[in-house]
Formats: sequence, C-alpha cells, structure tokens
Amino acid sequence: MSVTHTLSSLKDRLSPSDRMPLVFLGHGSPMNAIEDTAYSRAWTDLGQSLPRPKAILVVSAHWMTHGTTLVDISAMPKTIHDFYGFPQALYAQQYPAPGAPDLAREVASILASHHGAEDDRWGLDHGAWSVLKYLYPGADVPVFQVSIDMSRGLDHQIEIGRTLSDLRDRGVLILGSGNVVHNLGAMRMGGKPHDFALEFDALFADRLTDRDFAALTDRNGLGSLLTRAHPTVDHYLPALTIAGASDARDDLTFMTDAIDLASVSMRSFVFHA
Ligand code: ZN
Repeated sequence: MSVTHTLSSLKDRLSPSDRMPLVFLGHGSPMNAIEDTAYSRAWTDLGQSLPRPKAILVVSAHWMTHGTTLVDISAMPKTIHDFYGFPQALYAQQYPAPGAPDLAREVASILASHHGAEDDRWGLDHGAWSVLKYLYPGADVPVFQVSIDMSRGLDHQIEIGRTLSDLRDRGVLILGSGNVVHNLGAMRMGGKPHDFALEFDALFADRLTDRDFAALTDRNGLGSLLTRAHPTVDHYLPALTIAGASDARDDLTFMTDAIDLASVSMRSFVFHA
C-alpha cells in the first residue's frame, strides 16, 4: 500500500478500475454546505477525480440507531435539515437524488446477520447531502443511507464495512461522513487545536496507514484520549466502516488534514485500488 497526503495527485492515481474507491469525509460544520471553504473546494475537486458510481451508499454520523443497522429503501430520499440555529439559506438546501430501493433491500439482507433491516422513514441527513452536493452536484446518482448502530463495540463497524466491501466491485461508492476528532464541547472559535485533537488525529492516521484496526477499535487501549476526541462516537464510527471495507491492496490518500474550531478534525481519506 502506498500513502500520500495530497489530493492533487489523486486524479492521476485513480487508475481505471472496476473496483470503486472508498471515501471518508470529515464534514464539520453544516455551513460548509453553503460556504466556499477549503473543505468544500476539496470536495468539489474530489468529485471531479472520482469515477461515476452506479449508486452511493452513505454511512453518516447523523443516523444513529440502537440495536439495529437500518438501510433506507426510499425511492426518493428526502433532504433532512437536522441542525438548529443556522441561516435560512441552509434550510433551503435540497439534494433531490433518487434512492436505490432494490440495492438497498439487498444491502439490508446482506446485513441481516449484523441486525440489518429495511427502513423508509429516513432520507439524507446533512452528513450526507452537505458533502454529496459537492461530489455529485447534479444529484443524478442514486444514493441511500445506512445507519450506525450505537449499541455495539467499535469493531462492529469494521465488520459492517467488511460485509459491504464486495459492493465496490459492483460500481457502488461507499461514502463515510463524520469526523476523525469531534468534541463539540471543546470547540473554540479561531482557537488553536487542543493537544488531544492533534494527538488522536495523528494516531488515527498512523494506525489507519498500518491497517491496525484492532488499535483503532480498542476502547481500553485508546483510553481517555478516545473519550476526549469523541465524547460520543457517532462521528468516529463512519471512519471505521470505511476502514473495514478497505483491503491491503488499496492505496490510501489523505486530504484536508486540519483541525477546525480547536476540536474537530477535518481529515478525510480515500482508499483506492
Ligand atoms: Zn456532523
């Protein structure tokens, strides 16, 4: 596996392959959905580098379930504005991509052994649409979400990724959306990054590069560093799904590895064949 740290080389490195890349994006503030930022520009560039998938499966930090992994089978997933106190322009955003009901039903059955089930009440939360609007601005690629089961150990999400990984060979782009570090209580406007944020972010990148997923899912080993980086693990789990769907043949590219608001890692990464 080779590892690079810039997006600029990614376009050349994404050689034609039948196996779709895997993408994890640190989505950060919902405002990235309507502001021209370093992140929104990077997502646009990434979208222009990625192959066009037949469908997109999104694992977002914002669809949390307990005891089950739900798969949205809606034909037209609605745009969910799941945030409070933001400008009206953000609530006016729509991402009218179609769903992929047949594939979503199949995914629910693939995940049945992992407490997977169908659902048609969700849609696209802002973890999904705030980045998809840059990756595929035409909203013309079918997309559906898969929830994160908050009731299990961290390694469960690695298993979910592993179980879904064959979809890569069928033209499905698996997209994780969360943040490698996410502590809203420790946010500081314009503040310099907390030490714990830098430390966890660097540790995550190292262990991901080494494919040491046991370390990334070891709550005891990660100890208080994990609980400071993630008081709740919802934004961490989608990164583990993407790790689990990767394999040793993949190359790994990191992008936008900055700490925003002192305690939110915007680190993103792409695994590609
Ligand atoms: Zn979020």
